[in-house]
Amino acid sequence: MKLSVKLGIIFFLIIFGLESFMFFFLHSALVDNRVEEELNGLLARGNSHRSVLEMNFDKTTISHITLMESEADTDVVITDSDLNFIGSSNQSIHFSKYIQSKTHDIPRHGKVIENNWRKTPFIATVSPIEIDKQVVGYVYMFQDTASVQSLIKHLNEHFLLAGFISIALTFFIIIVLSKALTKPLLEMKEATSQISNGNYTVSLPKVANDELGDLANSIQLLAQKLNYLTKERNDFLASISHELRTPLTYIKGYTDIVHKRNLPREEQEKYLEIIIEETTRLSVLIKELFVLAKFDQNTFVIQKQQIDLHEFLNNIEQKLSPAFKEKDRVLDVFCPENLFLMADPARLEQIFLNLLDNAMKYSSSGDKTVLRVIRKGTNCHISISDTGKGIPEKDIPHIFDRFYRVDKSRTRTLGGSGLGLAIVRELIHAHGGTIEVKSKENIGTQFELIFKGAIG
Ligand code: ADP
Repeated sequence: MKLSVKLGIIFFLIIFGLESFMFFFLHSALVDNRVEEELNGLLARGNSHRSVLEMNFDKTTISHITLMESEADTDVVITDSDLNFIGSSNQSIHFSKYIQSKTHDIPRHGKVIENNWRKTPFIATVSPIEIDKQVVGYVYMFQDTASVQSLIKHLNEHFLLAGFISIALTFFIIIVLSKALTKPLLEMKEATSQISNGNYTVSLPKVANDELGDLANSIQLLAQKLNYLTKERNDFLASISHELRTPLTYIKGYTDIVHKRNLPREEQEKYLEIIIEETTRLSVLIKELFVLAKFDQNTFVIQKQQIDLHEFLNNIEQKLSPAFKEKDRVLDVFCPENLFLMADPARLEQIFLNLLDNAMKYSSSGDKTVLRVIRKGTNCHISISDTGKGIPEKDIPHIFDRFYRVDKSRTRTLGGSGLGLAIVRELIHAHGGTIEVKSKENIGTQFELIFKGAIG
């Protein structure tokens, strides 16, 4: 069943129930009120006859009163204290069955003796006539219930009409409301099925600033994110296949040459070296891809421990200095003693090796790389600056992207895959730190790393 129909039925049942209850309540209150008024009027009329009779309790007055009532809608019966009829406005009706034998509990202001307007032909009241504190007779008043019933019938007709109009109105309002409520939902459903079919350019109309509006915004955001992710995944797959294809082409080509041609030993060695080099490049690339895949699956674990930074960086300096020297570059490391950092030692080493390797790769003979550590409060600022070739301004925003390389042809000869900085950034973020880069072409590059949790 459609949501709008379900909502409509539920609303209708609730409102219909409420309306019926209120109509019933109002109707019975009005009817009671109306009958009460009639009874009070009848009693007041009886009381006023009684007052006249108390002043002149004689035949003339009695016949006056009965004559007056015979012209009215009401009827009167006057009895003596023993309930014998001494006057009646309507001889044709036998009122005797209404005349009560129990007269001792009739108060001075009279009493209603019949109020069942639905079942009996008359409603009736009685008022005692007292002269010198002695009851000398009674005035019985009667009113035909047909008049009350026709009054109530009119009232019922009005109620029926009002009820019908209000039900029709309710029905109409509910149809409009439930349609208005479910319309944005249907649009969202349509949008999500379009998204699942790969159309991410869905646009949902701006609805009110409520839960439905929030939902529409979330769906739109989801579509944008999915669009971005799909595009990124496609780019990434294209890059990977490209990166894998190049070394594999080399390997296959040179293996074929070595295999098929009868080459001198020296040349064979040369080609085999290229094959080894390309195989190493491939295995490094695959290792790096694995690291990034772990980040993407959120399965990368960082095991922090307290690291003596001075000692840690000294070790790295000793490891890299020979390579720097061999290429005629200088590496200087400055780190205060007794400075400790909470970090994962293996990952931290990978960060420094990647950054220092880049500094060495992208500089020329005689260039200098300086690693400097400064403690600022509980933060540890580490800068790695080189006097190398720098990065063109337009490339700076992209250097942390996967497979991004400034100079594609040259970097290949330097052995770069374009994943180094992407991994560095993921590792630093996993530590809760930040990395920023400043660079000027032909002047140098500076990476600034900030880690939290310095103790010293
Ligand atoms: P690669 O494996 O190619 O070095 P990276 O992700 O480590 O990949 O670096 C991305 C690009 O950023 C490099 O291709 C290089 O052009 C540039 N780059 C990185 N570090 C430096 C640096 N210290 N000096 C100049 N350029 C750099």
